[in-house]
Amino acid sequence: MKRNDTEKEKGILIVLSGFSGAGKGTLVKELLNTYRDEYALSVSMTTRAPREGEQDGVHYFFTDRAHFEDTVAKGGLIEHAEYCGNYYGTPKAYVEEQMAAGRNVLLEIEIQGALQIKKLFPESLLLFVTPPTAAELERRLKNRGTETEEVIAKRLSRASEESEGMEAYDYIVINDDLQACVKELHGIVQAARREPVRTKAFIEEIQKELKGFVKGE
Ligand code: 5GP
Repeated sequence: MKRNDTEKEKGILIVLSGFSGAGKGTLVKELLNTYRDEYALSVSMTTRAPREGEQDGVHYFFTDRAHFEDTVAKGGLIEHAEYCGNYYGTPKAYVEEQMAAGRNVLLEIEIQGALQIKKLFPESLLLFVTPPTAAELERRLKNRGTETEEVIAKRLSRASEESEGMEAYDYIVINDDLQACVKELHGIVQAARREPVRTKAFIEEIQKELKGFVKGE
């Protein structure tokens, strides 16, 4: 939809939510690998402690509550929420940069943040990732082996609460077969980029051009 070489079509903002253990992380990794230049993943700031193997600046920007609150006060986050006793938020600068460069920016965030994003950016695309069944979710959480029984129970109870909000999303993505799911997700994004709500600039431009052809009535 580029109108000339200097004009770059902006990327869209994609919110990816889903139950903890739904496989969002793997899905995102695969999406970034498969469609390299088309997507960028936003790295969130959090006050939760790093899990084994997690690196600062790669998985999250790990910080304390005082610095997090200071960043919020300075307007450095586009949204933030408290989840299971920890703060999580999306740094603003990277999102704006990547969208301007034409990439679709993925925010892997929970529902409170997703709803804030939709309110602030009505043209954002809200996707909810879920395993095919609740039993499969429990199995994946247990297999992860990084959480205690207590944390697993907390996350399942949170999943039950979150399932009440699934209808607020634009699409539900069922993550059963990973490769099929990646393809489906990319297909949804491509179609979404052509919806009128996300092609306003194009529509306005072509309307203006067409008006130029209309002779005075
Ligand atoms: P985890 O601790 O398992 O990495 O993440 C817990 C939850 O916080 C997940 O649902 C994850 O998607 C969400 N989350 C991660 N980053 C952000 C963020 O920047 N904002 C919001 N609202 N949620 C986030």
